Amino acid sequence: MIKVAVWGTGMMGQGLLGFILDRPKDVEIVGVIAHDPHKEGMTVGELIGRECDLPITTDFEAVLAKKPDVVCICTQSFLHEVTDQVEPSVKAGANVLCIAETLAYPWASDQQWAERFDALAKEHGVSILGTGVNPGFVLDALPVMLSSACLRVDRIEAQRVNDLSPFGPTVMKTQGVGTTVEEFRAGIADGTIVGHIGFPESIHLIAQALGWKIDRVEQTREPIITGVERSTPHVHVAPGDVCGCRHIGWGYSGDELKIELIHPQQIHPGLEGQETGDYIRVFGDPDINMSNQPEIPGGKGTYASTGNYIPLIGAAPAGIVTVVDMPLPRFWAPTV
Ligand code: NAD
Repeated sequence: MIKVAVWGTGMMGQGLLGFILDRPKDVEIVGVIAHDPHKEGMTVGELIGRECDLPITTDFEAVLAKKPDVVCICTQSFLHEVTDQVEPSVKAGANVLCIAETLAYPWASDQQWAERFDALAKEHGVSILGTGVNPGFVLDALPVMLSSACLRVDRIEAQRVNDLSPFGPTVMKTQGVGTTVEEFRAGIADGTIVGHIGFPESIHLIAQALGWKIDRVEQTREPIITGVERSTPHVHVAPGDVCGCRHIGWGYSGDELKIELIHPQQIHPGLEGQETGDYIRVFGDPDINMSNQPEIPGGKGTYASTGNYIPLIGAAPAGIVTVVDMPLPRFWAPTV
């Protein structure tokens, strides 16, 4: 029986709670931590519509005092934002699984911050692993796995064409959905529109696994302009305005392009005939060309892959580990 705490009760935290409740003989949920005081005292059952009387709390210290083996953090994206959750969890002696995109390879965004997390985890004899569908799987771990069938690998190109429609207002803003083209370009310039978070992390994960030295990461973000009206519960986009962001990242070794990641994200791509999917090309001997349609869903993919690491993280070495250091991930079948 693994003792688990879930920190963050938004879309991903809720999905993960459902995954855990499906494994009653394998996992004991010792606590669920929310940020929003309105959720204090609400039960997990009330939050996600399942049978579970465990009350949600904002008192993280009380939850960590129950000594969870694993804390799953599903709150925010950047290292400075998750520090207040990662550090107390580690100090309480828990392994950490966290879906913050930057934690997939924290050295890419802040070397010193990564070293601080790594040293703290080693001091307490626990592991910190950044998980998720992207970064964490489709554009990094999966291409790395495919490369294991090659005699030689020269270059990797991976593309994820996805549908942003299920996501909430924060994602719409950071992707620039609903803006005019001028507003989109101004948002990119002032940093309020960022597109995807995670390309430097995915590029460095692939490079680390394949022993490539990446000297330079470049990125571009272009507006996807809709020809038809598109709407979600959170945004309305008129023809001629921006329905998404086409984000591309390149990793170079010297002047040689080694990794190209292409990620056009938009709401309702099907309205203009665009199918979603994940596509990976490994150029080498042999060439590998993998295609998956439709896309692996970003939400389910993220909380499933995080939950499926719960039984694996206990055996990981202390410190920060990445998905390319871990054993092959796999579906965790519930004990019946
Ligand atoms: P969400 O907005 O639905 O939920 C986030 C939750 O975290 C909210 O309930 C919020 O109140 C809570 N929160 C924020 N700060 C907190 C704190 N200090 N303590 C406790 N709770 C706090 O978002 P989501 O869809 O669940 O995603 C969560 C994060 O994970 C986002 O930053 C998202 O970008 C990232 N994400 C990563 C991947 C990946 O593939 N790596 C996939 C999906 C989401």
